[in-house]
Amino acid sequence: MKKISFKEHEIKRTCTREERDVQKYREDLKRDFNHHCGYCNLDEHLIEPHPFQIDHFVPRKEFKGIRDSLETDYSNLVYSCPKCNRAKGKSFQGDFSKAKVDNELYYDPGSVDMNQHFYRDEIGSICSEDEKGQYMIDKLKLKHPIHNSAWLVEELDKTYKIMRYQLAKETDEARAELLQSAFNGLAHILLRQQALFRSSYYEKK
Ligand SMILES: [Zn+2]
Repeated sequence: MKKISFKEHEIKRTCTREERDVQKYREDLKRDFNHHCGYCNLDEHLIEPHPFQIDHFVPRKEFKGIRDSLETDYSNLVYSCPKCNRAKGKSFQGDFSKAKVDNELYYDPGSVDMNQHFYRDEIGSICSEDEKGQYMIDKLKLKHPIHNSAWLVEELDKTYKIMRYQLAKETDEARAELLQSAFNGLAHILLRQQALFRSSYYEKK
């Protein structure tokens, strides 16, 4: 079986400002997570106009009253799609006696290279061969077919952009016509796949 990279961009928390309102970090998180969910790698554009959420890696319920600074600590924030944020919920395991509290149940997508722990198979299913990775797949429901669907839409979108580029620079009239017809067909499939994805993402299950 061919292994495909889980994600292509690098995630790095670069914001050094300190804010009192966690929502003020939204644009920073968008940029640092490259508009993708830290957990399942969903592109936020696919669920527009619904916004992504800001997940507390060490959940609020756990740190409240013990380490309140984690509420607005940028290193504790993960840009997350609504499904992953909800599925992760309050699950936590960690040690508050440490200076840097970790949620040991999960890999922190902002500080760990997720490609070291996750990959995709040929149909885009998210896989892991280690215990924590498998726990995350199970807990965050990363085996749900919507994740294959999201991957497929992104792959189609990449091809769409390559074709658009080729079409723009094609000078031969006959070839341009042929390319245009293939391009129109692909654009039509892409739009339908995006619509299908959106409706299945919000299906209640
Ligand atoms: Zn997600």
